[in-house]
Amino acid sequence: MLIVQKYGGSSLATTEKIRFVAEKIVARKQAGNQLIVIVSAMGKTTDSLINLAKEIHSSPPDREMDLLLSTGELVSVALLCMAVENLGESAEGMTGYFAGIQTDNFHTKACIQQIEPSRVIKELNNGNIVIIAGFQGISSENTITTLGRGGSDLTAIAIASAVKADLCETYTDVEGIFTADPKIVPEAKLIPEISYNELLEMASTGAKVMQSRAVEFAKRYDVPFAVKSTFGKEGGTMVKEISLKEGADVSSVSLDEKQAKITILKVPDTPGIAAKIFSALGKENINVDVIVQNISKENFTDISFTVNIVEVEKTMKIAKAITKELNAAEVIHDTEIAKVSIIGIGMMNHPGVAGRMFETLAKENINIKMISTSEIKISCVVSKSDGTKALKSLHKEFIQ
Ligand code: ASP
Ligand code: MG
Repeated sequence: MLIVQKYGGSSLATTEKIRFVAEKIVARKQAGNQLIVIVSAMGKTTDSLINLAKEIHSSPPDREMDLLLSTGELVSVALLCMAVENLGESAEGMTGYFAGIQTDNFHTKACIQQIEPSRVIKELNNGNIVIIAGFQGISSENTITTLGRGGSDLTAIAIASAVKADLCETYTDVEGIFTADPKIVPEAKLIPEISYNELLEMASTGAKVMQSRAVEFAKRYDVPFAVKSTFGKEGGTMVKEISLKEGADVSSVSLDEKQAKITILKVPDTPGIAAKIFSALGKENINVDVIVQNISKENFTDISFTVNIVEVEKTMKIAKAITKELNAAEVIHDTEIAKVSIIGIGMMNHPGVAGRMFETLAKENINIKMISTSEIKISCVVSKSDGTKALKSLHKEFIQ
């Protein structure tokens, strides 16, 4: 079998762990497989590199930032190759460039445009374990690019797709994908199989397991992959296309405490107002999540929306300018909120899920401030102090 594996930073945080990973890889090779291994930077290396850059420059140039960040993964490649060689197997380490990962020129968040894996294939055929630096590529201007935080996931999925791997496994420090965050809900269970779409919704509702861009890529090119634990039990979660019939009505619940609610009060209720507000935010690359517009009274309305908490200041600045421009009354914000969500592809077939969700929250005396839905997700914004209780009660209602 041709297997692509990816090891995250926590799996490679020390030389001891690197040796352990090398043993795992060599065992798979010696069982008769061909192996391509994608690695992240050791432990929190990428964060440390970012901090170093910020000590030098308050907003470091993106191109040099990529040059700097790409070094983290190279350390992992070199050390893992050495560890494999030490076990008597031959390994060939590669940068993203040598692995043929061609990207656009958007430094720090480059998109993969093409993969030309001939060198990878050649080295595999020479009997080598191929070890590739994740998270990096080469632009059309021959500069080193990176693929956004968590980008090694994308490297793994894209390489698996390009070489038509039989199996793609991403190894991390959790045992797979759970029905809720086990740190908050101890009864949470491992999900053996989940669809690309559910995993994407989970990421957007605060459960960060895989880089979303990697999951989108996997969905687009249909690259099933497993999420597994490096040091814990085998098993894990298989992410793949799942038909509606097989899907549970609710497969997971999640809590996002990093949201803030912005409200613009007394906005004149005329066509084009929402467009004005949200295109101004879009221009500044601010991701707006839940949006609610109240019923208009005397031709005025209130508009509320949520953004990631780190963008509150930037958002308030823009919202204040717009408030003035629109002759709205005022803009306020609330950071004491949380978003609880239930997700499941089976929801499309099961009416009444929303009602059950609201009833569950009502029974716990939890006030819902905002609601948003997609075909396979319902989110409610509640007070931050109710977040954990809401998550636990929804898990109890829908999962167990
Ligand atoms: N080292 C990079 C990061 O921390 C890429 C990755 O881990 O996937 O974002
Ligand atoms: Mg990572």
